[in-house]
Amino acid sequence: MDFAGFSPAHAPLIDPFGRSISYLRVSVTDRCDFRCVYCMAENMTFLPKRDLLTLEELDRLCSAFIARGVRKIRLTGGEPLVRRGIMTLFASLSRHLASGALGELTLTTNGSQLPKFAGELAAHGVKRINVSLDTLDPEKFRAITRWGEVQQVLDGIAAARAAGIAVKINAVALKGVNEDELGDLVAWAHGRGMDLTLIEVMPLGDIGEGRLEQYLPLSMVRARLSERYALEDIDYRTGGPARYVGVKETGGRLGFITPLTHNFCESCNRVRVTCTGTLYMCLGQEDAADLRTPLRASESDEALHAAIDEAISRKPKGHDFVIDRRHRRPALARHMSVTGG
Ligand code: SAM
Ligand code: SF4
Repeated sequence: MDFAGFSPAHAPLIDPFGRSISYLRVSVTDRCDFRCVYCMAENMTFLPKRDLLTLEELDRLCSAFIARGVRKIRLTGGEPLVRRGIMTLFASLSRHLASGALGELTLTTNGSQLPKFAGELAAHGVKRINVSLDTLDPEKFRAITRWGEVQQVLDGIAAARAAGIAVKINAVALKGVNEDELGDLVAWAHGRGMDLTLIEVMPLGDIGEGRLEQYLPLSMVRARLSERYALEDIDYRTGGPARYVGVKETGGRLGFITPLTHNFCESCNRVRVTCTGTLYMCLGQEDAADLRTPLRASESDEALHAAIDEAISRKPKGHDFVIDRRHRRPALARHMSVTGG
């Protein structure tokens, strides 16, 4: 067999369970202009600047993963669009779209900065994005985000669509907060040609309030929605954890992400890297690998590729989420804004 040209730097990433790693989520900042109650505490301590990977380092890191077969990159955070200079990262990564090495460059955003950046994102090859929006009610929105303005997000969604970017809405289902409104949110999103995905609250990070108070099982949400809509199981998959149903009355798609049930680990194709270069092989496990040290150790990517290989060889079979009912504590100490969901 001829192994010439098949250096580890080009070998595809396959984990011990035979799953190919083709999707990288990158948290580019831990900061945010909102403080959603389920995501962050009101007084968060953010990372010192020197710990963050520079935009050039983030580009190098993403490019190394692309060389290893990653086809989809999602930038997230914190709020990715509040990172200073973030458009230069989109601009540089778009070269991989142009070459065909990367199939999709996208982001998850709270939408607040889209009025400013939608046009540039479209110019850099971003075709679809996820925008998080839990309620259309300005007061509830302020209560959930602690200081956000819903109109700013609605303007952002309009700006993205005007720039030709398809928008999917993500909403976290919150007990006693937006549970009465989810049916209307379906009608609103589908009425504008946008898919909607509902997310169950995950036990990540100490946010200073009981998770059990926020937790609303999506099985209950689905049962309630089926009193208003005919929901039909459909085969649509995006490779992610969402299970989709078709809504007969609207003709739109509705996704459910229920991370507390082990329903998507077998087909997991993703890993996550934080803005400090820590690679998490599974959203629901603490095990992680430091990629910043090998990245900064030399200008060549050899050590980086070796560290990536070593990490992927430890990707676990599945996750371990539990809301600890006895101690009323999150099962994992890190916040969602660290890995970006
Ligand atoms: N700031 C961006 C946004 O809000 O879309 C990107 C980062 S945010 C951490 C990514 C997604 O995670 C959002 O849709 C948010 O609603 C969701 N999220 C945050 N904390 C969560 C939690 N504890 N459980 C479930 N989803 C959560
Ligand atoms: Fe910010 Fe997104 Fe977390 Fe809300 S969910 S606080 S918008 S990072």
